[in-house]
Amino acid sequence: MADLRQAIDNDELTLHYQPQISIASGEVEAVEALVRWNHPTEGLIFPDRFIMLAEKTDLIDRLTDWVMRRALADTPQFVSGISALRVAVNISARNLSKAGFASKVIDALAVSEVAPERLVVEVTETALMADPERAAAALTELSAAGVHLSIDDFGVGQTSLSYLSSLPISELKIDRMFVTDMKQHYGHAAIVRSIIDLGHNLGFRVVGEGVEDESVLDELALGGCDVAQGYLFARPMAVEGLNDWLIKCRLPEFVM
Ligand code: C2E
Ligand code: MG
Ligand code: MG
Repeated sequence: MADLRQAIDNDELTLHYQPQISIASGEVEAVEALVRWNHPTEGLIFPDRFIMLAEKTDLIDRLTDWVMRRALADTPQFVSGISALRVAVNISARNLSKAGFASKVIDALAVSEVAPERLVVEVTETALMADPERAAAALTELSAAGVHLSIDDFGVGQTSLSYLSSLPISELKIDRMFVTDMKQHYGHAAIVRSIIDLGHNLGFRVVGEGVEDESVLDELALGGCDVAQGYLFARPMAVEGLNDWLIKCRLPEFVM
């Protein structure tokens, strides 16, 4: 924990970005910022080894502040296609429970060159349910400022559907445990199709994450899913790698 605190001060954290692709058009619509810890002796450490630790204390507030500022500073550097790419940032339940969280995000947007409409805040279904009332207040404030809201890892939590429909969200991300093996697991395929329909009926766009092969992409397309994210397209990449990838995927010989 002490190391992580220092890591934030010493700029040892870094963001990798993973593209999200419109299934209908093949255009890259957004990138998700995923934090990594570039540890001086241990090398690159993935978030599953330190986010839960940070979430136990207020350290997660500093971590999220860092991620938000870094992502908003990186966003103007992304090479863009037809329209400007959106950037998605993950936040934690503890962030949402703090008064002033939404204003802090709005202030960070104001000092950046990024329009609020280009920011997507991803919050997991489980995080929402930790304190539904406060979460709803913070999300409503963010949405009023133009920020898009996305419910991450949807399908593994226990959100009440009436609560969900009352939130100003624009996107559902189906948990990747259902997506990755939907070709082998009939039950998971049925859950994915039901979430797509539920999302559409509530007016949300739906993202399938964990897309590792063509057959899963075809299945998502058949079900009417809007956006796909996964190793089939690209792994999360540093800004330079992302820009190389974005340029390459616009070349005529490139088939996604
Ligand atoms: P998430 O937000 O659901 O992010 C998606 C995770 O799935 C990422 O793991 C990504 O690398 C991985 N992934 C994407 N496509 C595929 C695929 O095709 N196959 C497989 N097997 N995996 C795929 P990552 O980067 O290790 O992040 C894990 C989790 O850590 C994230 O899940 C998110 O909950 C959390 N996290 C990451 N960055 C942040 C952050 O800045 N703040 C907070 N609070 N949490 C973060
Ligand atoms: Mg996410
Ligand atoms: Mg997820």
